Amino acid sequence: MIMIDIIQLLPDHVANQIAAGEVVQRPASVVKELMENAIDAEATTITVIIKDAGKTLIQVTDNGAGMSTTDARLCFERHATSKIKKAEDLFNLHTKGFRGEALASIAAIAHVELKTRQEETDLGTHITIEGSKVTSQEPAVLPKGTTISVKNLFFNIPARRNFLKSDAVEMRHIIDEFHRVALAHPDISFILMHNGNDVFTLPSTNLRQRIVHIFGRRTDEKLVPVSEETPILKINGFVLKPEYGKKSRGEQFFFVNNRFIRNSYLHHAVCAAFEGLIKTDVHPGYFIYLEVNPESIDINIHPTKTEIKFDDEHSIYAMLRASIKHSLGQFNIAPVLDFQRQNELDTPYEYSRKQSLSIPTIEVDRDFNPFKEDKGGGHFSGPSFKKVPSATWEALYTQQNFERQEQRVEFEVPSKVGLFEQQPVEVNHRSFQFQNKYILTPIKTGLMIIHQNFAHQRILYEEFLKNITVKEAISQQLLFPLDLHFSRPDIRIIQKVKEQLEQIGFVFANMEADMVSIAGIPVMVIESQVSTLLEHMIHAISEEIPDDNFALNDRLAKSLSESMAVKSGVTLNEEEREDLINRLFACKEPTVSPANKPTFRVLEPEEFDKKFM
Ligand code: ADP
Ligand code: MG
Repeated sequence: MIMIDIIQLLPDHVANQIAAGEVVQRPASVVKELMENAIDAEATTITVIIKDAGKTLIQVTDNGAGMSTTDARLCFERHATSKIKKAEDLFNLHTKGFRGEALASIAAIAHVELKTRQEETDLGTHITIEGSKVTSQEPAVLPKGTTISVKNLFFNIPARRNFLKSDAVEMRHIIDEFHRVALAHPDISFILMHNGNDVFTLPSTNLRQRIVHIFGRRTDEKLVPVSEETPILKINGFVLKPEYGKKSRGEQFFFVNNRFIRNSYLHHAVCAAFEGLIKTDVHPGYFIYLEVNPESIDINIHPTKTEIKFDDEHSIYAMLRASIKHSLGQFNIAPVLDFQRQNELDTPYEYSRKQSLSIPTIEVDRDFNPFKEDKGGGHFSGPSFKKVPSATWEALYTQQNFERQEQRVEFEVPSKVGLFEQQPVEVNHRSFQFQNKYILTPIKTGLMIIHQNFAHQRILYEEFLKNITVKEAISQQLLFPLDLHFSRPDIRIIQKVKEQLEQIGFVFANMEADMVSIAGIPVMVIESQVSTLLEHMIHAISEEIPDDNFALNDRLAKSLSESMAVKSGVTLNEEEREDLINRLFACKEPTVSPANKPTFRVLEPEEFDKKFM
């Protein structure tokens, strides 16, 4: 029998390309690795220059230690690192990098240029390398420190290049990485430029100021300091006051020994500290810095090093939770509202004042009956349904759901629907609210159950979409312009959808690098909601800025309808319920919410019958 040997050792450049798949997922990974190398080199100023979201150029310049000519050549070899020398060093890491893989990986899949000089030498080294092959090396007159330029990422792996997302999405990832590194090192100054624009200029400062520089001036008043020291753990940082929690996971940062990490267990500890202070579907914001003995953690369990294992997770959980609870208590942040409580149980303390509240007039077409059968065509749709005059209906609701303390409490009047009342056989306008969440109304074919929140989302969504695309909405002038601060990237998002927002009724008096001044708002919005509304919108859009206008308008209308729709838990009176029903069935697509959830269901009489068999 002949034996055939088939195993070969992979050439280095192939091995590097494979390793690159792990280290470099997208331009943001390169930004992170290069910034971390600069920090390991003890730079005090780091400049990141990006072109086309990193697809064309990623350049990081530092004023750190620099490299000797030999090291400049060696640093692109796999497992070439100056940071660990022996296995034991792995258990006592003080640097960001240690695997010696990043530069080798990056050089395997891009055109890389390295310029570096150490303080002690007069001449520095200039090396170019393409797909792991050194194409030139010469001495050069250079400032102290290192500049690495990475061009044409994935030039030799078209499949990877094609998988990159739009510039907006890739840039978002880069900014996320930049935030993480910048937040871990407030004492280092950072600059981030994109296509010639200055995105962030962060001077060396303290942690609080760093957070404020990144997330905008308004952040300052939201921060509650957290600080604790025990023999095994030092905790530092800030949490956002409970009322600034977000529907979407907003600013949530854990750093362990100045390294950004994710850890769902510790995240849970923070959430536990906020228990009772915020609703269960609202996420707390936090910037938490933990310092532990490097020997007590293992960072090596994840290739991109954002996960980490602690020896003593349970004690860390307990200390973290306790210290955040303590801070929230100390800063007098008592429970604002018990959101879980049923409204019906509340004392109607607003009831007496109710009469004095001016309730907008609502025109309701009393003869309009969406459930009449002789309309022809499909149920609940079609042009035969008259549109209800759009009253200032929303104002009534939105006021309630943003200022829940002011919520009017209304009691269903059972006598109206008394058992003995003769129900007309035909149809019946009458509707009831169930659990302040559903509107129930009998129709000929059964009992219709409408989800008030989803239904209202549908109504608003179609209205916003119409405003954006065909018919400009009316706006209300504000007495004093409203100045809102946002971070620079957020301002850019607002700029991107400015035209659409104007169609909806926003009037922008001025837009600066980190502030918008709003002179007019849509009639259905009240002033105190504007900031929340815009924040929610920015978040919805920034996750993935759609490239085409249609998708962008759709996303915008969705996010606005989501934030403005009447929530579950809000009591609706008879007219409001009726108006909601009428407008729902005047929609083009009344059956589903913008997020594709059913807006109503019909329970057929047979289903009731079954219950009595
Ligand atoms: P690691 O950071 O894991 O050691 P890298 O591939 O990122 O691996 O870098 C390899 C080596 O190159 C580093 O250990 C360091 O000695 C050197 N190096 C990389 N970037 C810089 C820099 N900006 N300044 C000085 N030395 C650097
Ligand atoms: Mg490194």
